Amino acid sequence: MRRSRLFLPTLRETPAEAQIVSHRLMLRAGMVRQASAGIYSWLPLGLRVLKRVEQIVREEQDASGAQEILMPTIQSADLWRKSGRYEDYGKEMLRIRDRHDRDLLYGPTNEELITDILASDLSSYRDLPLNLYHIQWKFRDEVRPRFGVMRGREFLMKDNYSFDLDFAAARHSYNKMFVAYLRTFKRMGLKAIPMRADTGPIGGDLSHEFVVLADTGESAVFCDKALLEMDVPGAELDYDADLQPVIDKWTAYYAATDDMHVADKCPVGEDQLVTARGIEVGHIFYFGTKYSEPLGAVVQGPDGKRVALEMGSYGIGVSRLAGAIIEASHDDKGIIWPESVAPYLIGLVNLKSGDRDCDTAGDDLYGFIQRAGLSVLYDDRNERAGGKFADMELIGLPWRITIGPRGLKNGKVELQPRAGGATDELSLDEIRNWITAKAGG
Ligand code: ATP
Ligand code: MG
Repeated sequence: MRRSRLFLPTLRETPAEAQIVSHRLMLRAGMVRQASAGIYSWLPLGLRVLKRVEQIVREEQDASGAQEILMPTIQSADLWRKSGRYEDYGKEMLRIRDRHDRDLLYGPTNEELITDILASDLSSYRDLPLNLYHIQWKFRDEVRPRFGVMRGREFLMKDNYSFDLDFAAARHSYNKMFVAYLRTFKRMGLKAIPMRADTGPIGGDLSHEFVVLADTGESAVFCDKALLEMDVPGAELDYDADLQPVIDKWTAYYAATDDMHVADKCPVGEDQLVTARGIEVGHIFYFGTKYSEPLGAVVQGPDGKRVALEMGSYGIGVSRLAGAIIEASHDDKGIIWPESVAPYLIGLVNLKSGDRDCDTAGDDLYGFIQRAGLSVLYDDRNERAGGKFADMELIGLPWRITIGPRGLKNGKVELQPRAGGATDELSLDEIRNWITAKAGG
């Protein structure tokens, strides 16, 4: 993409309404604009990030055996009356009435709807286990929408729902998601720590929140230092194998959010305990037959008896992640995107647009990078070098290649990683080799 053509309204000034760094940087880098309180439009740069985050989530869900569907944003109130949540959900639920005076709502979550689908269309226990997910906008009328996309009212969530015949199978479904979440967040360059969460009346220990440590996190969290250095299972992991040993390894260490933490009972010594603030990026939860019973998601088991399905639900805050990644990775100049979610991998800066040699070298390299299959933003504007650099640093692309008249005289360009580290002077051949290697060929 040519910078001169890209709709990228960057801001020099720090917007007054933004309290935390990710919100400030998302506004300044032209990623999002507020439409109304807690509701955002995603501009080209922001949308590219959102899509990449979404794609990582999708790939890891697919790898775990979950299947993608798409349920609507608008739901009928009747289903929620059956589960009892139409009243219970309270003011966070946006209620709507259609022209026929029927009560609808903008979905804050989808347990009822998915359970209803299963109730109608699951005929045999042989179709289990089943895990269905979708990535869809949710609406929750939060009391205090704030921190930009981190606590919005409209936000993008991946939510899925597992269905099993008995508890042992449900636990395996839960464990799969536990591992899939570890892998998902790691691919985004995040250390997300699974922390014991409240299970309410369901009881048991199958509820974990995945929390990214950041000073601006909304809740206080406590965990064993060892968790910061744990290994995340790689792609070779077999989801059909017994995952309990992996889960046991992680859950052997103490980790709790403030509502679960009891200082007096904390088993971790002071020198080993990390006390920090955290951002919840995901939540996994086993809740048994809480919805399958009232909504009639029942099958005939192998022994002919009718059993209500054992269920769990699993959420990831996709749009929140765009902010959380920035919280975890930035400096005083701007965002530092990990390669896996960067809107473009390379920022190509032509220091002297209009200069014939610079333009030729720049256009050549721009074409070369694209043909190699890498994403590139080419700053071809007629602007001062300082402004171009500041812009590139603000939007945080992982690599910058700079072409200037002085270097070109010696046949050289500059290569610089955004994350810090030395600037390299490379010949045109060397930079092409670097690009080819980067593209994996
Ligand atoms: P929170 O305690 O932050 O309100 P929650 O417990 O209500 O979260 P879940 O219902 O478990 O959240 O939703 C799944 C995921 O969706 C959360 O882990 C979070 O990442 C994301 N999420 C929840 N509420 C919001 C919101 N208002 N804005 C953006 N993302 C959200
Ligand atoms: Mg909430």
